[in-house]
Amino acid sequence: MIYADNAATTRMSENALRTYMNAAGSLWGNPSSLHITGQNAKAALEEARARMAALLHCEPREVYFTSGGSESDNQAIRTAVMAGLKKGKNHVISTRFEHHAVLHTLQQLEKELSIRVTLLDVHEDGLVRVEELREAITPETALVSVMYANNEIGTIQPIREIGEICAEKKVLFHTDAVQAVGILDVDFAGEKIDLLSLSAHKFHGPKGVGALIVKRGVVPYTLISGGAQERGKRAGTENLPGILAMVTALEDAVREKEEKTAHLLSLRETLIDRLTEIPYSALNGDRKNRLPGNVNLCFEGIEGESLLLLLDANGIEASSGSACTSGSLDPSHVLLAIGRPHEVAHGSLRLTLSGENTMEDVEKICEILPQVVEYLRSISPVWKDLESGKAKHILG
Ligand SMILES: *Cc1c(COP(=O)(O)O)cnc(C)c1O
Repeated sequence: MIYADNAATTRMSENALRTYMNAAGSLWGNPSSLHITGQNAKAALEEARARMAALLHCEPREVYFTSGGSESDNQAIRTAVMAGLKKGKNHVISTRFEHHAVLHTLQQLEKELSIRVTLLDVHEDGLVRVEELREAITPETALVSVMYANNEIGTIQPIREIGEICAEKKVLFHTDAVQAVGILDVDFAGEKIDLLSLSAHKFHGPKGVGALIVKRGVVPYTLISGGAQERGKRAGTENLPGILAMVTALEDAVREKEEKTAHLLSLRETLIDRLTEIPYSALNGDRKNRLPGNVNLCFEGIEGESLLLLLDANGIEASSGSACTSGSLDPSHVLLAIGRPHEVAHGSLRLTLSGENTMEDVEKICEILPQVVEYLRSISPVWKDLESGKAKHILG
């Protein structure tokens, strides 16, 4: 099997798995306990926090461990919205192609607290325009939330410039960096980020663990009430094996970054070159400002679900977009946001590679995919109409 769905989740690395097993066996104490078993766990927890902070360029006390990306996004947004409301600010700026953990939280808060939300356009290339962001900020704006890199089309946003603008305008800046951490150089302090979400299972760590980084001075909203864990802002006995495995995975990812990026770029560029030779296909999102392992394509006259099933039958595991929306018949909100019409957005394919993929994998994909597309078109009534001229082609 060729696994090309690393934006959905990654396999835990051997190193992370070993760390997890060892910690589950030997560091099983409760860090809140006063005895030695508890205090050993506490020491390991605080050491992990310091290592995490060093990797992200933040302070250890700015790190709050959570259950993953979704929880971090929820907490980040509520933190900024609550802080804003106290100062009479009720406006939030985000983008049309955020993860649903951000978009649905904003929708919830529109209803719950009558906040006003502006979603920025991401244009055909899948990139936010900083000038449009600057113009959208008003004196009522409490929060700007723009993802670091998109999980479907992989486009990397101008985070440093956005951070500058938000600092200048004194608006809190949250970035969902779940797809970026472990792959790109993320610099919390240097990029003037106030709130940052990350998730371990996207960089070969375990599932169900992540972090929210909160700038000193910003008081996190308590999403989960109870004990005094995480500086009293996130209750629940800490998932120490998960946290230690996450930090191990991130250290490995940061150390191997250069080498992995070069490898991924050669795989990605080969895939894009070869697969866009398929007639009536197109790459989704900017080719340059994109994650090194992300390829997202549209094929006209194809139904994405059938494409995935046939690829799976041929040993290739991919996705049509976000794992969260597969199974629903709605086309991807990300592809609609970059202007793909419904019928084209339905025929999308996302291949997301990790350092574990090889050029042989890419060769096999380049051999099988064109055959599968041709076969599906041969049995497609939509394609028949396009060929006969009854319907018009959209992609060149
Ligand atoms: C995967 C993902 C999430 C959700 O993270 P979980 O740890 O699975 O809750 C949020 N945002 C982005 C961009 C993601 O890719």
